[in-house]
Amino acid sequence: MRRQTHQRRGTSGRLLLMLLLLGLVYYISQSDTFRIHWSLPFFREVTEEQFEVTGLHPVVAEKQNQLVERARKSGIKIIITEGYRSEERQDELFEQGRSTAGQIVTSARGGESYHNYGLAIDFAIRVSADKVIWDMDHDGNRNGKSDWMEIVAIAKELGFEWGGDWASFPDYPHLQYDFGYSIAELQRGKRPPGYKLDSEDLEASEE
Ligand SMILES: [Zn+2]
Repeated sequence: MRRQTHQRRGTSGRLLLMLLLLGLVYYISQSDTFRIHWSLPFFREVTEEQFEVTGLHPVVAEKQNQLVERARKSGIKIIITEGYRSEERQDELFEQGRSTAGQIVTSARGGESYHNYGLAIDFAIRVSADKVIWDMDHDGNRNGKSDWMEIVAIAKELGFEWGGDWASFPDYPHLQYDFGYSIAELQRGKRPPGYKLDSEDLEASEE
């Protein structure tokens, strides 16, 4: 008899403790102070904007304009030969030099290039109205430095990563601004915030 009473008291005590714990967990989950720290890692992926990209990211477009302008001030005219690239176009480029004619120009298939997400541009140097070059030794502004590398230096100051630094498949005209996103993340549908999908961007990306 005594033993049973003792046991019952123990059970109700445990029940009370469980209720208290549940209450505490509920309180923490509802509390704003805790919510900030708890929810970020769990909900980040859900709130990420996921949509198809059809133009240069506006931040990248702005940096592209700054690059062109700063190059001009250094006496170097550049043109942007590529910006946003559709996955179909990327697949076509990948086949170039493989199943179709021409030289191999990329190691990336559709969806594997930062161009496919509006986060990369390619440049070339314009030496006259009708002549564009990819000569890394050219010193058109005659300051004793390679124009190409001057552009690369400006681009790096603007936060671009240069494809010429890649060990496996160096891509000298290529500049990318990836916001720290890996291709794997972008392929999973993650997108850096800030895309504007208006006609202006679409036009800009087709230049
Ligand atoms: Zn490129």
